[in-house]
Amino acid sequence: MKPRILYTKPSITEREVAYATDAAANGWGERCYDYINRFEAAFAAHLGVTHAISTSSCTGALHMGLAALGVGPGDEVILADTNWTASAAPIVHLGARPVFVDVLADSWCIDPEKAEAAITPRTKAIIAVHIYGNLCDMDQLLEIGARHNIPVVEDAAEALGSEWRGRKAGALGAFGAFSFHGTKTVTTGEGGMFVTSNSTLYEKVLTLSNHGRARGQKKQFWPDEIGFKYKMSNLQAAVGLAQIERVGELVERKREIFYAYREQLAGVNAVAMNPEPEGTKNGFWMPTVVFAPETGVTRETLQEAFSAENIDARVFFWPLSSLPPFEEVAANTTAYDLPGRAINLPSYHDMTADEIGRVVEVLRGCLAA
Ligand SMILES: *Cc1c(COP(=O)(O)O)cnc(C)c1O
Repeated sequence: MKPRILYTKPSITEREVAYATDAAANGWGERCYDYINRFEAAFAAHLGVTHAISTSSCTGALHMGLAALGVGPGDEVILADTNWTASAAPIVHLGARPVFVDVLADSWCIDPEKAEAAITPRTKAIIAVHIYGNLCDMDQLLEIGARHNIPVVEDAAEALGSEWRGRKAGALGAFGAFSFHGTKTVTTGEGGMFVTSNSTLYEKVLTLSNHGRARGQKKQFWPDEIGFKYKMSNLQAAVGLAQIERVGELVERKREIFYAYREQLAGVNAVAMNPEPEGTKNGFWMPTVVFAPETGVTRETLQEAFSAENIDARVFFWPLSSLPPFEEVAANTTAYDLPGRAINLPSYHDMTADEIGRVVEVLRGCLAA
């Protein structure tokens, strides 16, 4: 059996180990927030936003951000059907209803026209989820949001390193949410970040993130409202700081891996990969191939072929509306069609050219079969 190729694995250097070791040895007492403060400042600077609040997950960041926007019982939040459930769960936790709309066939991201058509008097927000690093059409979404007076927020969990007309994904909406789960481009094991340049929203989330204790509240153990406990630890932030100091290198390697795949698949017209339209940069968190319907290649044949070669490959997201917690939205034909003929490819930073070659061979084999 050939050695296993994992689909993701963090890139950990002596820097992460040194910072984590220092945090474990010294990051207590008066220094218990040092790495958290440094990580938040470095992250905000990298993104070009004013405020960042580290969290225990992207889900938590979304939960607090949506709560701060006033999403509550009876409200609706619009998002693409092609997604991970983490983008939808916080909406349900707040007593609101996720409204799933179809995606575009080329970007696999929310179709802005479908999003606009789904707006009702109950709509409280639109979530732009930049899937696999691919960018939503932020010009169109922000214009629709402004016209209807509905905030557009970004789930940028998969889009660290992606840029829309020179601005970083996650910095364009009312707020952005990031994930540092072990599979993501920058990791803290588990973790996330809430970012915004809106000071009012920042203050609200800051209070919510501290169990509802307002900044400046002098009384001890005195919550001013019911909040959340989604904090990141100083130990995790130490790893995160080292990672964000290396973000240029981490994103660049993701891009190299994607381009290596694309180059080796050049001329194979029967597959589409993550797009990178003019004026944008794709962080390529997850290189993905979608086979043309006429190839007859299916998710199942791909899974079987990859598993036979001891390669981890991930299925393309099921439409959320097809999953047990939600109600089917059969009108989302693109979201329902794509996953049956697509696969996510391995892309961890330390992947070798040989390993990329093994993956490409499997893909070519599927086409030849
Ligand atoms: C990973 C991911 C999340 C969830 O991140 P957690 O940190 O695990 O909460 C949310 N949305 C998208 C699009 C993701 O890929």
